[in-house]
Amino acid sequence: MSGKVYLVGAGPGAADLLTLRAAAVLRAAQIVLHDDLVPQEILDLCPASAQVINVGKRCGSRGRSQEQINALMVWHARETQAQTIVRLKSGDPAVFGRLGEELDALRRAGIEFEIVPGVTAASAAAASAKITLTDRRAASALVVVTAHNIRNESLSKTVEPARSTYALYMPGPDYSRTVHGLLESGHEPSTPCAVVSNAGRANEEVRYLTLGELVSVKGIPAPAMLIVGEVAAEHLQQRGGDLLSKVSSEARDPYHHDRFPIHPALG
Ligand code: SAH
Repeated sequence: MSGKVYLVGAGPGAADLLTLRAAAVLRAAQIVLHDDLVPQEILDLCPASAQVINVGKRCGSRGRSQEQINALMVWHARETQAQTIVRLKSGDPAVFGRLGEELDALRRAGIEFEIVPGVTAASAAAASAKITLTDRRAASALVVVTAHNIRNESLSKTVEPARSTYALYMPGPDYSRTVHGLLESGHEPSTPCAVVSNAGRANEEVRYLTLGELVSVKGIPAPAMLIVGEVAAEHLQQRGGDLLSKVSSEARDPYHHDRFPIHPALG
């Protein structure tokens, strides 16, 4: 039986900013592949019997390429007895962590995985600087952007809408109004999006659709987040005939959830 890979966020570096779920996964780990920025105090949570491997770029000649890291995850899950393989990344694993390539490799190999989110550097930095990133008197958008993008483009190009993901807080209850605002700001009706209600909770629901479809959807449970952009496209293509696609929690071992019904407005 193949092992399961947990892609875990280690938070910004203080051990007590690690989530309880991340700590539990680390305590159960047999293999840990971690980045440089993860502190020793967090690695100390792993059992003494665990194989802990630094795959970070700062690890001198032992630094691994992305392809090697992908191959290591797949190999440990498939070819060894290990049941719990942890890929530990700083901050949140899904924010500038090359997670996309790793998920592609795991999906291609048919290996079960779960993402454990973490406190991202933007949140930690704001807390340290004693500022709020979205003070309503000063800011209504928070743009998470890298100064080192894969295409080596200038910052002005990097923040183009077509190359950006929008994570909208408080998108409801009038989704049609929200969608119209996005269309007016230059998004196409065909732009993929994901609506996530109760993210990370037992009653989590995920819908993959386009902005054009979202405009007429009613009854999405709150609290919800709307994620807009090409990053949601893959799931949209995979959903087949169902507008309500995968429930992201279905692959999670300790939390067995029922599938959620297709909303009448989408059926
Ligand atoms: N996945 C990480 C980001 C990885 S990119 C996250 O969600 O935070 C690495 C960059 O994150 C660093 O170059 C730095 O800009 C930032 N970073 C990570 N940890 C940080 C910390 N404790 N303080 C300030 N910046 C940090």
